[in-house]
Amino acid sequence: MLDAICELETEEHLTARTTYSVFKFQQLPDDDIERLRQWLICPACGGKAYFRKASKDGKAACFGSRYHQADCIEFKPSAQKSREEQGAIEVHQQLVDADALMIDFSRKPRRHSLANKAAPTSKSSSISKSSSISESSQVSVALPAGAQVQELRTDYQVNAAAHTTEKRLASQGLEKLLHSLLRGTDLAKSNLWVYTDSERKYRWRAKNLFVNFADADPLDNKPHLYWGTISHTDKAMDWLNPADSKDIGIPIDGIKQPLWAQFEIEDKRCLEGAGLILFGKCFWNKDKTRKIIQLWNNDLQRIFISKLED
Ligand SMILES: [Zn+2]
Repeated sequence: MLDAICELETEEHLTARTTYSVFKFQQLPDDDIERLRQWLICPACGGKAYFRKASKDGKAACFGSRYHQADCIEFKPSAQKSREEQGAIEVHQQLVDADALMIDFSRKPRRHSLANKAAPTSKSSSISKSSSISESSQVSVALPAGAQVQELRTDYQVNAAAHTTEKRLASQGLEKLLHSLLRGTDLAKSNLWVYTDSERKYRWRAKNLFVNFADADPLDNKPHLYWGTISHTDKAMDWLNPADSKDIGIPIDGIKQPLWAQFEIEDKRCLEGAGLILFGKCFWNKDKTRKIIQLWNNDLQRIFISKLED
């Protein structure tokens, strides 16, 4: 359980409700934690909840409850919810521990259903096995010849001396970064240095790199990692329309087939409500009526779609 509601009675005998993420709550001063921890309830069913501090041997801080209703989603979270929460916790820990973060665009998404299809006899395939299967099934897309050159022309190059003090360099893929952003960890506001290439030439403050679709600015002329959720696609599935902003379109007509294969998209419904993160640039269309976010070099490693699994 990553969120809990704190219900306090005010002096006017009103009930003040505040929702805390466990990431926020654990950063409160000790006095506040002691004062508030007895007033926590489950955000889904209202059952009395508790807070457990992070353990010395590395277990993350968490909320929990022994009083959930039997049908409470926090009592028996889906496998997807648990996995996404684990991802958010992992990224939060990296924010706390690391001096810098490197984005590993080559990290492959989990492909449970594909792994099962490929190896129908061993349902309990190990993590390493399923990841090797997804490795071999990765869709290869020919990059435009100028892809590397174009990237080298950006303004975010740093010299080698800049990162010599960064001793603890964490590495993370787009999937968990997206789940962390969607769960409201501090990643989007963090000052942590983030590298978008393995040679550590391009460095950004996390707060400048990660931009929710609602905040996309077509005039800033820099690439970003834009993130949010998909509302819907058009009939031909040539555009992704974010839920976070009504005047943004993400053209995908040129990469549709490999994109659908990579994320096992079978129909439009697969995309409705899905999480989305992509590295790209935002600009106005000709008539300045619509913002376009173009995936960088149409590189499929720089986009991640987190489907709802139901
Ligand atoms: Zn509950």
